[in-house]
Amino acid sequence: TELSTLILDRIRDVPDYPKPGVVFKDITPLLADPIAMAAVVDELAGAHEADKIVGIEARGFILAAPAAYRAGAGFVPVRKKGKLPSATLEESYDLEYGSATIEVHRDAFAPGDRVLIVDDVLATGGTAKAAVELVERAGAEVVGVAVLMELGFLKGRERLTGIDVRSLVVV
Ligand code: 5GP
Repeated sequence: TELSTLILDRIRDVPDYPKPGVVFKDITPLLADPIAMAAVVDELAGAHEADKIVGIEARGFILAAPAAYRAGAGFVPVRKKGKLPSATLEESYDLEYGSATIEVHRDAFAPGDRVLIVDDVLATGGTAKAAVELVERAGAEVVGVAVLMELGFLKGRERLTGIDVRSLVVV
């Protein structure tokens, strides 16, 4: 489609970043293009009816905050451990080497809030899965996960069974 071309033409492959053998999808050319950025934000905002849109640090923030504004929803940050000032819930998940922990404020959601989780890239799905757990533990309902780009070969979607996963492009 037109949107996928708009996106794919503005995502740059960076070989051997952050380490040898990895090809990193760099979204900064897309962020710098106002037409593409507006189209992406509109599409993410419309992925689901939601009361709150969660952005995952750090690139998720860049997309989730304007999507929340567009949708008339609240924005909630999910951050790396140690960054949120008030009482948090935390969730750890395995990385290739070691593990990572993300957090959300305990009082970020009202009971029954419908929540859309937004990030830039879905890779192995570990980050999105942990964000889903956090939102549910905080008493809200995850209505979907929406990402700009899904790396299909990593099968992250399979870790999110029962969740509506919307990706604007799959590579
Ligand atoms: P996962 O937990 O699904 O393996 O990795 C997804 C998380 O890592 C997302 O928060 C995403 O921002 C980041 N990520 C992993 N690979 C890439 C990539 O190639 N490009 C970008 N922009 N982010 C990536």
